[in-house]
Amino acid sequence: MTATIIDGKAFAAGVRGQVTTEVERVKAAGITPGLAVVLVGEDPASEVYVGHKHRATIEVGMTSFEHRLPADTSEGDLFALIDRLNADPAVHGILCQFPVPAHLDERRTVARIDPAKDVDGLSVTNAGLLATGGDALVSCTPLGCLMLLRDQLGDMTGLDAVVIGRSNLFGKPMAQLLLRENCTVTIAHSRTQDLAEVCRRADILVAAVGRAQMVRGDWVKPGATVIDVGITRGPHPDKPGKSRLLGDCDFDSCAEVAGAITPVPGGVGPMTIACLLANTLTACCRAHGLEEPQGLTA
Ligand code: NAP
Repeated sequence: MTATIIDGKAFAAGVRGQVTTEVERVKAAGITPGLAVVLVGEDPASEVYVGHKHRATIEVGMTSFEHRLPADTSEGDLFALIDRLNADPAVHGILCQFPVPAHLDERRTVARIDPAKDVDGLSVTNAGLLATGGDALVSCTPLGCLMLLRDQLGDMTGLDAVVIGRSNLFGKPMAQLLLRENCTVTIAHSRTQDLAEVCRRADILVAAVGRAQMVRGDWVKPGATVIDVGITRGPHPDKPGKSRLLGDCDFDSCAEVAGAITPVPGGVGPMTIACLLANTLTACCRAHGLEEPQGLTA
């Protein structure tokens, strides 16, 4: 079997297009959705991500507020900014780019953000709403994976799903989303016994570990849908001195067995920013009592 390649780049472009249309509808009601991104310090990778988010926000017609703070910013100054953004009616989504410098605490920082503006879905409130069936803002990457899976599979009721990875950012919310879709969900992690055997039971296999090419073709159930979330940089096989991005799955051997698979790059990655925009739009609609867009939420 040769798997269908799930084109996350094209799907994400479609999501951004839908968000653009919905933003026009919201603007017609006199409201412009706004996303504030806070960056503390000068981590080069974070600078790149923040730049991408800024451009994508403007492209869909929203307002982008960028706040760049020096690396030695105190918790008090960071929290004062978050408090101002919480109170600002032009700001519907707030994202603090992680990692923050070591003297700042990520958990306390997330807790300071108004849950109604927590478009990263990381707060205790949003995690709790997701777990208890409420209207959460859902962490962007798992939301993106859910959209790809819905598009690929439609009804997932009764399917066996295995999520490798149990982080608060990805693994746990992904498992909750699959549970909501009526899958039978297993969460695997570094202490799981016989991971290959666990994975072979999966109709849906989601890998979010950060270990390049860990999942081999003989771990995959024939016909399974494989979602590769991991991103690791490794040496390029053909270009000495150059690097390339690798997923958690050994793409060639997995694609021989799977029914469908996301590539790295061009699979899950592009969905993350698209879902950040979708969450900002959702937060804006909820804040103003406007009808929520269809298909952009969990
Ligand atoms: P994380 O917090 O480091 O979590 C990694 C998880 O993998 C942990 O639960 C860990 O288990 C598990 N793990 C580690 N080694 C394992 C092994 N040998 N077998 C089975 N499980 C193992 O990472 P994360 O934030 O969830 O991200 C995971 C990957 O996804 C990273 O490569 C990251 O770059 C990527 N990612 C991509 C996007 C995107 O936009 N595409 C977004 C988010 C994350 P323990 O809990 O037992 O330690």
